[in-house]
Parts: sequence; structure tokens; C-alpha cells
Amino acid sequence: MLTNYVYKLRPNITQSTKMNNWVDMLRSHYNWCLNDRLTQYAQQFIQGDYCSLRTKAEACPLTCFVSKNGATGEPWKNSSDKNPRRNAGMIQDAALPELKKARPWYAGIDSTVLQQNVKRLDIAYKNFFVGVACRQGLGRGFPKFKNRSNFTSFTYVMGVKVQGSKIYLPKLGWMRFHNSRPIPNGFTIKAATIRKRQDGWYVSIRIEDKTVPDYIAKPLTEVKKIIGCDLGITKLVHLSDNHQIENPKFLTNKKTKRILKIRQRRVHRKCQGSKNRKKAANHVGKLHKKIADKRQAYQWFVAQKIVFRNVDAIAIEDLNIDAMKRRCKPKIDENSGRFLKNGQSIKKGLNRSISDASWSDLTLKIEYLAAKHGKVVIKVNPKHTSQKCQNCGHIDAFNRDGEKFICTECGYMSHADINAAKNIRDRAFSIVRVDYPELKRPKNRKETSPRSLRANVVSLGT
Ligand SMILES: [Zn+2]
Repeated sequence: MLTNYVYKLRPNITQSTKMNNWVDMLRSHYNWCLNDRLTQYAQQFIQGDYCSLRTKAEACPLTCFVSKNGATGEPWKNSSDKNPRRNAGMIQDAALPELKKARPWYAGIDSTVLQQNVKRLDIAYKNFFVGVACRQGLGRGFPKFKNRSNFTSFTYVMGVKVQGSKIYLPKLGWMRFHNSRPIPNGFTIKAATIRKRQDGWYVSIRIEDKTVPDYIAKPLTEVKKIIGCDLGITKLVHLSDNHQIENPKFLTNKKTKRILKIRQRRVHRKCQGSKNRKKAANHVGKLHKKIADKRQAYQWFVAQKIVFRNVDAIAIEDLNIDAMKRRCKPKIDENSGRFLKNGQSIKKGLNRSISDASWSDLTLKIEYLAAKHGKVVIKVNPKHTSQKCQNCGHIDAFNRDGEKFICTECGYMSHADINAAKNIRDRAFSIVRVDYPELKRPKNRKETSPRSLRANVVSLGT
């Protein structure tokens, strides 16, 4: 089994300055590698001896770090290999000794850390191409140039040792840390990622024990009981067994919003580039960190609440959250050519609430916990789940009036979101039955499908 444990580090001043320097250097190396790949990509489309598209200078090792056919180094490996051509990551990896020679301060960084930095860019590219391949706007975007706020970590894959409450990081030395949970016996350290957060440095240690089996989700054939979850804003989750789970709105509640506003104003009023401004900005960051930590803890609590119910499977909507948060289209007045109100300013608040609820993180946690306890998560298409009537299956946008659900066809009344949760549950059932025909109900009982059964009950009642 492979898992991660996170600890807070207690570096001394030398170590923390060193780590700060490393992060800065690694960031510029990452950006340099990305730029190199972009240049090389553009290079492939011109015929001729040009080195750079901009200057149109001829390719020559002295004028240009990009050779005509292959990024920064020898594009071929041993010709005896099956696939002798190096990819961009391998070329940049092989160029690391050159980098250390040209910029000696990079020699201070552990070599596996530098290699992982190149790998990180490889992964960014890979994720992008996965998204392109499935053509649904899913997946990640194109690799970005990193700035100080979104590049804060580096990874070791070798040489990390832990002894009591001290950790050995190559080229940084022994460092103390808060040993908040012991590493279980039999687990070996695979990698360690050092990350800078607002209140200090953290290490995430990846540990593995091959003798411990992985968590395996239950096969769909064994699913008998399903609970449906409808994710929302006013209440975080509505369950198909009529339960609701509160949404504390850690970022968008009135109190936090006020504190955040005050702290942001304090930053704004300090001189640009001053130490006091930095201090004030740190205050804002600490609040954001606290909100993120609270949200994390609460989501584990919610995930437990859902997974520990007496069910085999959990049905969740497969939401495209990016699409939900997309900006409204601009409205232009035909006569004057001026922009009219398009509702974006109202939607901005909703978008913040959606981000604050962080449904995708919650779904991930539910998936993890479900697998851990031998259950399975079924993702269903959310289309019309909130407009469909549970009783008669009638779909109509007018069925819903805020939180109330009144069917325009049969008059069925319910809480709108619980109605949706039940629809999600039923949809998951239909997925299970379609995939595994042996689970389909026997033919003689086909007439008593849930829909007609309920219709019978209604007609008996009247
Ligand atoms: Zn109805």
C-alpha cells in the first residue's frame, strides 16, 4: 500500500533560508525548461537554419541554446535501444550537469530534487495531453509559467531518513519536525515533498509497504443498497434518506468575509514594497490557511458521515464545476455598441460559494473513504435530476420553486434537493442494472418497478 503522511517541519534559520533559495532557483529552472520546450516546438515548423524565430539568427552552439533539432542536448540515446530518440524530459534531464557547470549555485541543490523538477514539467504536459485526448474540456490546461504563489514545493526521491522526531534531507541535513503520527512498522520511505505554506514548512512523506494490500472498491455486481447525494450550497449535502448536512461556508460566511475585508484593507493601505505591507499580507495568508484547514477537517467529517451509513454504494453527481463557474457571455447593445449588464456581478458571488463548498475535494474524500471501507462510488449524469419528479418521472423546470418541489403533473410534494438525491440514487441503480444484466429484476416482477408501484399506492389511497 502506498500512502502519504504530512508533518510540520521545524527548520533552523539556515535551513529555511536555504529552502527559500532552492524554491526560487527551482522555479526559474522550471520556467526555463518550459520556455525551452515552447521554443523548440515553434522551431519545428520553420525550414532553414534559423535558431530563433524572433531574431532569425542562424543556429550555432554559441548563439543559441536551442539546437536545430532537439532541445538542449543530444537527441539520441544508445542506438541499440528500441526507441532511441530521447523525449524532451530526458534531454532536459541529461542537460542538468551542464546547468550545474554554467550556474554553479545550482550544484547546491540535491540532484534528485532537480530531476524531479524536470519530471514535474513532464507530468504537467502529460495531464494536458490527457485532457486534449478526451476532448471534453476536462483535464488540465497547458503548462503555465510559475510565479511565487503557485510554485512552493520540491520533491526528494532518495536519501530521506527519519529517526525519532528528526528527518534527514540530503544537502539540508538533519531537521526537526513535529512527529504528530508515527510511521507504521514495515513501511519504507519512497519520497518526500517539502512544501511552504503560510505558517511554515511542511513535509509530505510517501511511504509504502508492499505486504499490505491496497484498498479495492466493491465490484458493481455486489451492490444492493445505494445512497444518493445531492451537493448544494445552502446545505452541503442532501441524502436520499432525508438527511441534510450543513454547509458552514468557511470563506463566504459573514464573519469571515468581514475579517478578510479588514485584513485586505490593511495590506492595501501600507506602502508598496515595505516590510509592514509584507507583514499585513502574511496576516491575510494566515487567515486563508486557517479557512483551508477548517474546510479540510470538516470535509473528512462529512465524508465519514456519508460513507459509514449502512449502504454498499454512494451515488454522486458527476459535475463539471469549471463549466458551472464559467463567465456569463457579454451582452452588447445593438444601437450604441455599449456593454449591458449580463448578470456576471451576481454570478460572481455564486461562483465564490461554489469554490467555497469545494465539491470536487469532498467527492475525492468520499471516494477514498468508500474504497477504504469496501464500498463503491457511482458517478451519475446530473442532467434533470433536480427537475424530475420522483413519483411519476415528469420532467419540468416549473416543478421546482426554490426549495419546494411540486410536480405539475401529479402534484407530488417534497423537498427539492432530497427529490434530486433520490433521482440520483435511482439513476445509479439503473447504471448498476444496465452494466450487469443478471441484477435486473425477474420478468414477472417487471410490472412492479418502483414507478408503477408508487402509482399503485397512490391510486389505492384515493
Ligand atoms: Zn409527478
